[in-house]
Amino acid sequence: MTTPPKDPHHVVIVGAGFGGLEATFALAGAPVAITLIDRRNHHLFQPLLYQVATASLATSEIAWPIRYLLRDRREVTTLFANVNSIDAEGSRVVLDDGDSVPYDTLILATGARHDYFGHDEWEPFAPGLKTLEDATTLRRRILVAFERAERETDAARRAALLTFVIVGAGPTGVEMAGTIADLARDTLAPDFRNIDTHKTRVVLIEAGSRVLAGFPDELSTYAQRSLEKLGVEVMLGAPVTECDADGVVYGGNRLEARTIIWAAGVRASRAAEWLNAPADRAYRLQVNPDLTVPGHPDIFAIGDTVTIAGPEGKPVPGIAPAAKQEGRYVASLIKARLEGRTLPPFRYKDQGSLAQIGKRLAVIDFGWLKLRGAIAWWIWGIAHIYFLIGIRNRLSVALSWLWIHARDQRAARLITQGSSKVAR
Ligand SMILES: Cc1cc2nc3c(=O)[nH]c(=O)nc-3n(C[C@H](O)[C@H](O)[C@H](O)COP(=O)(O)OP(=O)(O)OC[C@H]3O[C@@H](n4cnc5c(N)ncnc54)[C@H](O)[C@@H]3O)c2cc1C
Repeated sequence: MTTPPKDPHHVVIVGAGFGGLEATFALAGAPVAITLIDRRNHHLFQPLLYQVATASLATSEIAWPIRYLLRDRREVTTLFANVNSIDAEGSRVVLDDGDSVPYDTLILATGARHDYFGHDEWEPFAPGLKTLEDATTLRRRILVAFERAERETDAARRAALLTFVIVGAGPTGVEMAGTIADLARDTLAPDFRNIDTHKTRVVLIEAGSRVLAGFPDELSTYAQRSLEKLGVEVMLGAPVTECDADGVVYGGNRLEARTIIWAAGVRASRAAEWLNAPADRAYRLQVNPDLTVPGHPDIFAIGDTVTIAGPEGKPVPGIAPAAKQEGRYVASLIKARLEGRTLPPFRYKDQGSLAQIGKRLAVIDFGWLKLRGAIAWWIWGIAHIYFLIGIRNRLSVALSWLWIHARDQRAARLITQGSSKVAR
């Protein structure tokens, strides 16, 4: 059993993603001991994962060791461990090796994963994008497909190798589609001899009626047109009904494709299940207005693993700023409680939505201001660099983007996790 300090008040935070890390930062100076538990040893900047998957950035440019980020916080103990359940009666977090960690206050910030809408058997054929491993797996599949096509003599098989399907046209799907189109058209074209990478098909399939459904209509229309100019085939109102190693069926059509990328659904972590708490259809825990779990005033849940109504009754979106705001709120409420005070309920402040389309365009919706095109891309780039951690990463990412912008070179074009003998 892990024995953390008994006194002062012990806060255990599960998950060092956007929500958990922000709560840890915001508890600085409070009279608490903190144990931060994560099953990965790094904090990951998920908004740029697709850039690792498309060989634009290296893994170390968007991830940081959690232990390093908290090295100056003597009151914070970082544990590299997988939480398996919560013993709410005994106020303990149970790890998968049976070890347990006691808490006075618990914050669950365990995020979400992709969801295959009841078709988990599709996952091996259509991996999603959530972790660094997912990103490097996709990078390998994308680059290997071009390598295979280079020595494929059968025209149909070559076409299938050069067909990339992205399922789901939210921000991740749009960003993946635009970047793969750029990769094929600009970066790879001069390097191959037997294939014309301009003939690559990038097919973005969406069950709904428009791309970027969370954005206003005019920005969706602009994003679709911009993708089509990049050569992306946008298929709307066409749910995928089959998916296998050789392709997909969507809207009744079969499409042969050796690379399929899943960007369609989200399923919350097991936090609601751990506490037998009420959850929505995406397994998101339905928290109280102060982000406590119903029936458990000493347990908070934040970020992608919860659902809570925002302004105008609409659910707070599953995005990084929301998780961070919730993390900050919970830290303030814990501090207030320790001083015998309380706080008004959590209020979400919408800070806008951004999505990149290919390497030079973006759309931005600040509510009061809607931007698109190159100007939006510059703001998108500056915002993302600002939110990265540390000067070295900011400089490194800025330089990588400058190189892509000016020279069409993507430095992270490495096939790892296997040789040319690997099947997929
Ligand atoms: C590809 C992609 C692109 C995105 N793009 C954007 C974007 O452009 N803008 C934006 O605002 N948002 C974006 N998001 C969403 C954003 O990343 C999430 O909303 C945000 O990460 C949620 O923060 P969180 O703290 O709830 O969860 P996460 O950041 O996912 O962190 C959860 C943490 O919990 C840990 N964990 C989970 N289960 C356990 C367990 N059992 N035991 C121990 N540790 C555990 C995980 O390892 C992880 O570190 C994107 C997400 C993805 C996947």
